[in-house]
Amino acid sequence: MYENKVKWCPICNQGWVEIVKDISTGTLFCCCSECESEWNTPFNVEKNTCNLKNNFGFIEDPDYDEIEKLGWDKYILRA
Ligand SMILES: [Zn+2]
Repeated sequence: MYENKVKWCPICNQGWVEIVKDISTGTLFCCCSECESEWNTPFNVEKNTCNLKNNFGFIEDPDYDEIEKLGWDKYILRA
């Protein structure tokens, strides 16, 4: 759990924003585990902009190489 977290949620301040994958389209995006706010990229989470909601469908954890391919691995917070 929370393997792909990129930022503490700036919207609800109660959960982690994680990189997730839309199952139907295979699109990676960022989603808060608590308030379900969505961002198109981890960069937008950093900037606290582009808050979407219910833009995507069912999600699953992406593979690490999918994240790496987008260059998003640098955004992942390591404990
Ligand atoms: Zn949140």
